[in-house]
Amino acid sequence: MQVAITNGHVVPGAGAPELPAADVLVEDGVIVAVGAGAATGSAGEVIDATGLVVVPGLVDTHHHVAQAPLRGTGADLTLPAYLDTVIGRYLPAYRPQDVRLATLLGALESLDAGITTVLDWAEPTKTPEHTDAVVAGLTAAGIRAVVGHTAPGDEDDVRRLAARTGLVTGAVASLGPEWGTWEQAVHDIELARELGVPVTIHAQGGGADPVVPRLHAAGLLGPDLLLVHLNAATDEDVQLLVAAGVGVAVSPCVEPLMGHGTAPYGRFTDAGGRVALAVDVVINAAPDLFEPMRDVLRAERVRTGRMVPAASLLAAATEHGAAALGMADRIGTIAPGKRADLLLVDGLSHVEPGTAAGAVVATAGPAQVRTVLVDGHVVKRDGRLVGHDLDAVRAEAAELAVRVRAA
Ligand SMILES: [Zn+2]
Repeated sequence: MQVAITNGHVVPGAGAPELPAADVLVEDGVIVAVGAGAATGSAGEVIDATGLVVVPGLVDTHHHVAQAPLRGTGADLTLPAYLDTVIGRYLPAYRPQDVRLATLLGALESLDAGITTVLDWAEPTKTPEHTDAVVAGLTAAGIRAVVGHTAPGDEDDVRRLAARTGLVTGAVASLGPEWGTWEQAVHDIELARELGVPVTIHAQGGGADPVVPRLHAAGLLGPDLLLVHLNAATDEDVQLLVAAGVGVAVSPCVEPLMGHGTAPYGRFTDAGGRVALAVDVVINAAPDLFEPMRDVLRAERVRTGRMVPAASLLAAATEHGAAALGMADRIGTIAPGKRADLLLVDGLSHVEPGTAAGAVVATAGPAQVRTVLVDGHVVKRDGRLVGHDLDAVRAEAAELAVRVRAA
């Protein structure tokens, strides 16, 4: 099956120059050619991208997807209050069918905003039935997802998830040594390595018993680890994590709101590291990566007094996110051999070649996301999701939200 995206302003990523009037030719989900005239004579579906900017699909490296129905219910919740209510009471009230619906809503809102890959920190994976419901919701949406199993003690279920191939694959979401025991964290990391899947951990860094140097001393740091937040990271933490190639993700819209601190983005890039971006939760943040990109851009220009390039944040939301999830060989840029995860952004037909990536970061939002492809399949076309009625799913999920909050 061929799909041709024609005459777009293509932002390939990876430092490659922008192509102001180029085609992207896709065959069986894989990008096979990029450039002027690349799709001439192609046989399949044609998507006219005239006047549109074509960028790689956005990669959300940390998102509690099943919280979608609870959007906006925690604008003033501190972290302890969030843990008590959302994690302690609302999510445990989800039945498997609720998990499917909630996850579907979160995934559809992500796709609507141009997020084509998400790491789902899936709290509901407490029974195999709930795990199946997470996978079912993500699969029904058509998003590329890595499901972080949050009960690594249930080894059979983790193994079952880790064996998955295709668009929805598995990972281990470990409480880590700051929130759980050291022994469990070591077990989780070793289990993930045995299964060949990533392991992701919430971590603040620093602290009286600093975990990053301890993980380093135990030989546990590596590129298959993805640490999230790190708002209290020390200089030593930063150096150790960058040197070991550990994935680092920040959620700049959520962290200051819940009292974690400011996102440590620039501290890692100053040290030569790459940082990925995350939505994290929607109880107090919007379900898109445009706002995190802009939030970091503004903070970095204030912090450094320099004109940090806007386009560098698009790289954070695409190629660095792909690398953080161990998927840089498949997604994150627009190049032959990569899977065709793409979004077409409108409203910027007038920008000069070489400035479109920065223009997207500085000014775009979900409303400019016109068309989205995941693995070569169109999941949003001309501003509307394909095969799903987002309003209807939201209405159904609103009933779920009312019920679990009353429970
Ligand atoms: Zn989180």
